[in-house]
Amino acid sequence: MALKNEYLISVLETVKKRNAGEPEFIQAVTEVFESLEPVVERRPDLVEAGVIERLVEPERQIIFRVPWVDDNGKTQVNRGFRVQYNSAIGPYKGGLRLHPSVYIGIIKFLGFEQIFKNSLTTLPMGGGKGGSDFDPKGKSDGEIMRFCQSFMTELFRHIGPDCDVPAGDIGTGAREIGYMFGQYKRLKNEFTGVLTGKGLTFGGSLARTEATGFGLCYFTQEMLKANGKSFEGKTVVISGSGNVAIYATKKATELGAKVVALSDSNGYIYDKNGIDLDCVKQLKEVERKRIKEYVATHPDAVYTEGCKGIWSIPCDIALPCATQNEIDKESAELLVKNGCFAVSEGANMPSTPEAIEVYLSNGLLYGPAKAANAGGVATSGLEMSQNSARLSWTFEEVDAKLQGIMKSIFKSCDEAAKEYGLEGNYMAGANIAGFLKVAEAMKAQGCV
Ligand code: NDP
Repeated sequence: MALKNEYLISVLETVKKRNAGEPEFIQAVTEVFESLEPVVERRPDLVEAGVIERLVEPERQIIFRVPWVDDNGKTQVNRGFRVQYNSAIGPYKGGLRLHPSVYIGIIKFLGFEQIFKNSLTTLPMGGGKGGSDFDPKGKSDGEIMRFCQSFMTELFRHIGPDCDVPAGDIGTGAREIGYMFGQYKRLKNEFTGVLTGKGLTFGGSLARTEATGFGLCYFTQEMLKANGKSFEGKTVVISGSGNVAIYATKKATELGAKVVALSDSNGYIYDKNGIDLDCVKQLKEVERKRIKEYVATHPDAVYTEGCKGIWSIPCDIALPCATQNEIDKESAELLVKNGCFAVSEGANMPSTPEAIEVYLSNGLLYGPAKAANAGGVATSGLEMSQNSARLSWTFEEVDAKLQGIMKSIFKSCDEAAKEYGLEGNYMAGANIAGFLKVAEAMKAQGCV
């Protein structure tokens, strides 16, 4: 869909000029702008207040050197990032990605999306994101610890429980958060909820580990229900085999679906009997091995090299949970051809704009990442509340709050889409509802 509104076209031109060489960021801004056309026409006051020009420019971007010593005694140098994007409705909040593909454009796209996602959760959290081009794959525990300590030795001066609260993302799980938290505490001499996704013995929240994957299924369930469908008896394909993919598999299975495929960055497994999740958890969470090892103990399962082929497996529901732009036009067309009727995103921006066009023009139910995967950050918000109150809630309490939040996110997306004449377009609904709350706050706070 091409932009028609002159004002948005001109702001986007400036964004493209200022951020040349950052295609993922420009993609994320373009998608939001396309949804905001009817809002801009109806709300000239927000245009007058310069909300959109301010929204696309991060409040602060921090780039720093991360030196660390490997197991051979050799000095390695990585680059660290924290983009504090928008604090209109609360402290900056968003994960830390550790992956060799990380550069400022990836962090900015993620931080920009995070603003709207956090707004949708109903909790008071602004948008931020960070990370490094460090590759945790193949590193020893000692190397991971030394990297995390060095990373936090710079980051600690920019964050705090009322200022900026980072969390996990690709490559940053409980182990990395633990090492970073330990270093923050040592440097600041204070025990506060400065990071979320912490271990349960030092301020972590029950159900945080499960939250993004579970939340994705709760959102999807609401979307299916609103359209007279359910997970019961459906075949599901899930990409990735990390935190989000594993817990999405667990919940989808509990809701009556059969998950038949998972992947990692080398290839994918197809198990027609349904994925044996205990085996995957042992391989990925405990032994940190590749997904292809699964077939060694499951003779009916097949492993295929390369990630893209996973979308050629016939399914009713697809849940991309690996990384950005993993479903392109061709893969989306294959999904449609094979009878898939719903795509709901666990990963951030996993569908290219052309793929989204295919979903919408073929009437697929489409759950966009900002809404569908917001359960992780929502539960991080609940972790922050528990830390501030010096309390810990039970798994059932947190899970019940998560379900309530995901229901309310779906309702906001559905209602905003209807209000702006775009019924059933939950992507537009998510962008509009997420935007309006932040925009009102920015307008009320004046030109800052
Ligand atoms: P993990 O690091 O736990 O797992 C990532 C998975 O995706 C791994 O299986 C990984 O394979 C695969 N993967 C990563 N990069 C690529 C790539 N370039 N091509 C193919 N596969 C790839 O991360 P998470 O599960 O936490 O995150 C997955 C997605 O969900 C990301 O987009 C993240 O931003 C998003 N997300 C995560 C949240 C959370 O709470 N964790 C919250 C909201 C969104 P390999 O092991 O081979 O690298």
